[in-house]
Amino acid sequence: MLDPTDYNPRNLIDGRLVDAASGRLLDVLEPATGEILARVAASDADDIDAAVTTAERAFRSFRRTTPGERADMLLALAATIEEHAEHLAYLEARNVGKPIPVAREELPLVVDNLRFFAGAARTMEGRAGGEYLRGYESYVRREPIGVVAGIAPWNYPLLMATWKIGPALAAGNCSILKPSRQTPLTALYVAKLAQDIFPAGVFSVISGSASDIGDQLVADDRIGLVSLTGDTSTGRHIAKVAAGHVAQTHLELGGKAPVIVLDDADLDAVVTGIVAAGFANSGQDCTAACRVIATPGIYDRLLDALIPAVEAIKVGNPTDGIDPDGDHPEMGPLISATHRSSILEVLAKTDGRIVTGGNALSGDGFFLEPTIVANPSQNDVIVQTEQFGPVVSVQRAADIDEAFSWANDVEFGLASSIWTQNLNHSARAARDLDFGCVWVNDHMPILSEMPHGGFKQSGYGKDMSIYAVEEYTRIKHVMTKTE
Ligand code: NAD
Repeated sequence: MLDPTDYNPRNLIDGRLVDAASGRLLDVLEPATGEILARVAASDADDIDAAVTTAERAFRSFRRTTPGERADMLLALAATIEEHAEHLAYLEARNVGKPIPVAREELPLVVDNLRFFAGAARTMEGRAGGEYLRGYESYVRREPIGVVAGIAPWNYPLLMATWKIGPALAAGNCSILKPSRQTPLTALYVAKLAQDIFPAGVFSVISGSASDIGDQLVADDRIGLVSLTGDTSTGRHIAKVAAGHVAQTHLELGGKAPVIVLDDADLDAVVTGIVAAGFANSGQDCTAACRVIATPGIYDRLLDALIPAVEAIKVGNPTDGIDPDGDHPEMGPLISATHRSSILEVLAKTDGRIVTGGNALSGDGFFLEPTIVANPSQNDVIVQTEQFGPVVSVQRAADIDEAFSWANDVEFGLASSIWTQNLNHSARAARDLDFGCVWVNDHMPILSEMPHGGFKQSGYGKDMSIYAVEEYTRIKHVMTKTE
């Protein structure tokens, strides 16, 4: 278990760190050992009510802050996170089970995101004003929405929290963040760091299980926008509950990214790319390179090269990489025993051939071997559903047309990639792939300036980029009679 001085177990409400009103605590497990790592506030409806009440009150003055003032606060948050980056990476590694060097790599993006949002706050504009009706002057005000609920998943707890709070606060909203019940530690630590940066009530963090506080938060009619990153089924549910008071929703949901590999692709680059993007974070990534579709001229060579590369992935305890110069694992455990069981169930059903991996690792923790499934059919469960684990399928398409057709033939539309030296094929991918992101000859890099978000059942709305900040605003038309 973590030393109590290493983490913050309390909610941030009204600018103060407080226990849950009930005094109850939740156990947080460590995926690498299956043991209790920490105990944090187990909030309920009373805590939600207190957070929303103070956020609504705080909004009355926060909405009047200038973009420059909000930018200063976000820059201060970025600075304190940067200062505590090593500790936050340590908490993330223990809580999510990601190797420490991997957790460390996420911190600069978190800091850069916040700095981007700080700058973006100062660039927001309404479209040009003018006399569109003779005798009347019109202009557009871009305003914050009000109190925004941000609901984060467990796979990148701090990064996803940043994508929730950064644009919300940049735009002048008050933000209530609910981290995942499984991984609240970095969000709660940031709550402690942020305590004196924002006016009381502007930023709140509430930990608890979705069954105790999820619907209470989303159904509260003082919430103007609910922003979720999570499973598609959770998105559908939240959209229904939010519709009860016509709250806006921003949904970043599941994915099933195709990786189209054409005959002329650079094989070494493809293998390196799939090993990195298919197994990063134990494959628990909504954009994971999990669904490879290769054309006949490269399929066999690709499998021959990919299998040993995947077998070479070092799996181990996340904290083994704590010494920056020392040896460290590349992949840790899955988030929970239940999650691992659900993946093993799917592997037992696939009509593809498991050519490497496919087994739970014995011993403590929720480890699973990096796995490749060869040539499942297009309707197979492994192709059509999100496993969210270290499992990559490799299909053999008859030709380029079939590769494109299979790529789009899933309910998801978050991210995709194509690997080819042919400009015409990459241009076709940009046009025809029905995904919010198309990478050409790479898979997974993201950056603060560019939008991230899905189509179809992967949801709607964009994270990062100026588009994200715009989504946390509302547009008002002001019209003045001039004659
Ligand atoms: P999840 O849907 O189980 O939980 C996500 C969050 O929603 C958690 O905080 C959870 O407590 C909360 N929640 C669940 N039910 C709720 C309810 N009724 N009301 C309010 N909140 C509720 O997802 P997860 O297992 O934490 O994360 C994995 C999923 O997230 C995968 O499907 C993955 O693809 C997706 N994801 C998507 C993106 C993206 O950018 N599109 C990024 C990361 C993860």
